[in-house]
Amino acid sequence: MHERTESGESTDLAMMRRALLAAHDAAERGEVPVGAVVAREGEILAVAANQREATEDPTAHAELLAIRRASEATGGWRLTGCTLYATLEPCPMCAGAAHAARLSRLVYAAPDPKAGYAGTLHNTPADTRLNHTFSAEGGLLEAEAAKLLRDFFKSRRQKPENTPEMPFS
Ligand SMILES: [Zn+2]
Repeated sequence: MHERTESGESTDLAMMRRALLAAHDAAERGEVPVGAVVAREGEILAVAANQREATEDPTAHAELLAIRRASEATGGWRLTGCTLYATLEPCPMCAGAAHAARLSRLVYAAPDPKAGYAGTLHNTPADTRLNHTFSAEGGLLEAEAAKLLRDFFKSRRQKPENTPEMPFS
């Protein structure tokens, strides 16, 4: 009866679970565990995890990498019709990249009180002064994503010689 809604919800869940898996992998490599997926009509175009430590690149956030890879996969910079799934609310840079890519939708798990630009500190997706707006929803699998971040920083604090910056920064 509500097939469309239900399949939409389960697609969102499946995509966020994939993003969480990428975040788990990142944690195992000593990266702040954030993962992202770009999908279109239920098809995954790109998966990425935060690679800031490995690449020593301050812009190597999961969302930015996923957007780049999705553009490579589709052969065009314009990602209209695509949804970005992120385990953490995007920062100013990544919310800006989602705008630049003309993404249609953003779904994130945990809000970021220190850098969130998709509803917390600012709402880039909904800023109507910009030439493109898109929908943004937070809270999908929030508890899992937040726990992953908490556990990561807890274990890092026990090994102070190798502590990356706080996630929420
Ligand atoms: Zn970011």
